[in-house]
Amino acid sequence: MKVLVVNAGSSSLKYQLIEMETETVLCKGVVEKIGLNGSLITHKYGDQKVIVEDTINDHTKAFNLLIDCLVNKDYGVIDSVEEIGAIGHRVVHSGEEFDSSTYVGDEEMKKLQSVAHLAPLHNPANIACIQLCKSLLPKVPNVAVFDTAFHSTMPKKAKMYGIPYEIYEKYQIRRYGFHGTSHKFVSGEAIKYLTSKGLPCSKIVTCHLGNGSSISAVKDGKCVDTSMGMTPMAGVMMGTRCGDIDPAVVEMIADNTGMSLKETTNYLNKQSGFMGVSGVSSDARELCKAASEGNERAQLAKDMFAYQVQKFIGSYAVAMNGLDCVVFTGGIGENSWEFRELIMQNTEFLGVAFDQEKNKTSEARGNFCDLSKPESKVKVLVIPTNEELVIARETQEIVQSL
Ligand code: ADP
Repeated sequence: MKVLVVNAGSSSLKYQLIEMETETVLCKGVVEKIGLNGSLITHKYGDQKVIVEDTINDHTKAFNLLIDCLVNKDYGVIDSVEEIGAIGHRVVHSGEEFDSSTYVGDEEMKKLQSVAHLAPLHNPANIACIQLCKSLLPKVPNVAVFDTAFHSTMPKKAKMYGIPYEIYEKYQIRRYGFHGTSHKFVSGEAIKYLTSKGLPCSKIVTCHLGNGSSISAVKDGKCVDTSMGMTPMAGVMMGTRCGDIDPAVVEMIADNTGMSLKETTNYLNKQSGFMGVSGVSSDARELCKAASEGNERAQLAKDMFAYQVQKFIGSYAVAMNGLDCVVFTGGIGENSWEFRELIMQNTEFLGVAFDQEKNKTSEARGNFCDLSKPESKVKVLVIPTNEELVIARETQEIVQSL
């Protein structure tokens, strides 16, 4: 079966067509700046790439262009859309309506719409894209795969906020967590690797560190806690998000600056984190460069991030009563030896013997790599994430069970 994986944002549409028998990516691409000036589609197949610039006013046009790319006689990879067995959609927030991936029929669509407001920047675009696929390709089944689903196994003591219970019941306000497909993929890969070596694998901390970052505690293959919350703003500070702060600070910033509550939230979401603290950039590479040139605020942002990740690793080791493995993934986790080195400081007492030299080699950049010394009781792994593959696998599984 060929599965089309679609990740629709408000102004972008990413896609991959995957042949599931071999789990091969036949092509992938992104439609960018939908509804804006300079819209274009970048389509990659094999080691080739084409860029089509066009006026792309809406997602319908974007999706039609995407289909054109798939079947194009020069750079397409299939003869007709009939070859698409299913479409897997990344959906950001499930609310309490779903705790796993789902086929999207009429009933499920109603439920999806009822939780759209929980991720106002993402879910409406995800839902609109599913509706579009249903109307343009009515014979192809659609599956929603949620960012939140992997975290649905968290116990209530980890999920709940210390707010009046009625508020949770009425508005579904609690910790949900995000990047679930990534945490699921890398913890699964870690378990496979550790099992093949005869090593324990029941207590894993997965660190997805990218533009957005989250840490999860995975016990016996199931998520028991995660750092993001009701929204992706919580947890460690990120490229532009503040991460955990004292909630009273929100009103203080609003009062002092004259910003509205909405503007303040936007400010904490889009202009804080690495960007806000350093004043240099939201990008970890720029931050490291500035810090190496002596920029103190860039160094501070680096130190804060590493310290916050360390604290989650420490607290999750206690939450799971031990630690077998730490996994690094995401753009920073997979590529930045500097951040991995900072984060792994002070972990010796947990049984980590971190291989600092190997950490700096190119072998440990963007590849699966074991960064622990042979005597290390806790394994430290770099595992490139593959969220699209998780979406495609779950889509195939659900469609085959229909
Ligand atoms: P997103 O959350 O948008 O998916 P990514 O997972 O792609 O983001 O991560 C992007 C981050 O990874 C950026 O901050 C980028 O600077 C960082 N990154 C990528 N390569 C490196 C590198 N070699 N060294 C340090 N940081 C890197």
